[in-house]
Amino acid sequence: MIAIVGRPNVGKSTLFNRLTKTRKAIVHDMPGVTIDRNYGEVDWYGKSFTVVDTGGFEPVAADKIIVQMREQAQLAIEEAEAIIFLMDGKEGLTSVDMAVADILRKTEKQVYYVINKIDGEKAEEAVYDFYNLGVENIYTISSEHNRGVTDLIDDVASKLPDYNLVEEEGITRLAIIGRPNVGKSSIVNRILGSDRLIVSDLPGTTRDSIDTLFETDGKRYLLIDTAGIRRKSKVSDRLEKYTILKSLDSINRCDIAIIVIDAAEGITEQDVKVAGYAHEKGKGCIIAVNKWDLIEKDNMTVGKYVDKIRISLKYMDYACIVFISALTGQRIMKIIKLADEIVEQRNKRAPTGELNRVVKTATLRHHPPACQGRFVKIYYSSQFLVSPPTFAIFTNYPNDIHFSYERYLENKIREAFGYQGTPIKLKFKARTGRKKIFKK
Ligand code: GDP
Repeated sequence: MIAIVGRPNVGKSTLFNRLTKTRKAIVHDMPGVTIDRNYGEVDWYGKSFTVVDTGGFEPVAADKIIVQMREQAQLAIEEAEAIIFLMDGKEGLTSVDMAVADILRKTEKQVYYVINKIDGEKAEEAVYDFYNLGVENIYTISSEHNRGVTDLIDDVASKLPDYNLVEEEGITRLAIIGRPNVGKSSIVNRILGSDRLIVSDLPGTTRDSIDTLFETDGKRYLLIDTAGIRRKSKVSDRLEKYTILKSLDSINRCDIAIIVIDAAEGITEQDVKVAGYAHEKGKGCIIAVNKWDLIEKDNMTVGKYVDKIRISLKYMDYACIVFISALTGQRIMKIIKLADEIVEQRNKRAPTGELNRVVKTATLRHHPPACQGRFVKIYYSSQFLVSPPTFAIFTNYPNDIHFSYERYLENKIREAFGYQGTPIKLKFKARTGRKKIFKK
């Protein structure tokens, strides 16, 4: 994650737009996750990262700029991997810039001092002023005219840490997600308890690494962003949107999202949005109901609780639910056991013959509804990917399959093959080749 910090009007959002839009990067239009458009994913010659325009989080009152700037800088230092500090070459160096630079100088993270609006000879001269900041390397750019931006981002991207390690075979990547105070760091501490071995002899797992690799029962797991979970940040907790951004970032990198909720509080709107994001990204999902020790129980409690969660997560009835207590340790390792099971489900392949029998029975019992007078037929199906299990379903009208019919087929496939804990994807494709191939 790269944060762009700077006073209002220095050009943060112009730079941001350059990075996220003009390079055809995906600025997610995440259904279900409504957050402001102040972050975006950038794919820069094979390296991908998230850019955040920290200025976009709050309205600015002129007399509060300095306070807000300090907060922005602090937030960036705590949460981002690198910081772009943007200043205005037309206005020259200001006292607020100096104050922010004082804060940024204290971090060991990579800070890029960048002067924007440099688009003429005169402007070039203005740069000298900025050497009063006492930093050696100053970039000059014009976001508006796309001058110097590429060089800057090349440098930024080349110094980003590599996450290649997490792609290693046989490692299950777990992201622990949840609102502040639900117990994430307590859970992490439990999981990494004394009998689990933290693997530290691998590159990327040094003292200050972001993720923690550990081993239990001979299997390896990567807990994503444990550094972020353990670090208590008042600023990012207060700016809840930022917490969501971090969560999305972690979800992108995981196999299984463990969404922790507080038993007393129940599942919140934010949890539902984040779970929806994990669903769309095809990640496995565990809902961990923590602080279960605080709940008074009778033999209906669990059932009622599960029902409530299922209602909130209507389209994710595959999600696993587990009731835990980080305080007492109750069922903590059940999370890992469930993760193992989900990984197995995600890697399962439905045999093609059997799959086609299941789909055929389903379509005979309940025909695909006709669309605009067209008779929709389903010919043939096959599972062509795992993690998440993804199916090609060949039909004469791939664009006319109604959402509810897709759900129906998905349920039938799940009834036959399981796939607990993981989303599955159905891709409707136009039938290709000669008819005979599909006739039997
Ligand atoms: P985080 O912000 O999500 O990392 O939450 P913490 O792990 O810091 O926990 C927040 C508070 O909840 C702390 O005071 C913990 O001691 C407490 N807590 C965490 N898990 C449990 C639990 O299972 N039961 C109870 N009773 N308290 C818990």
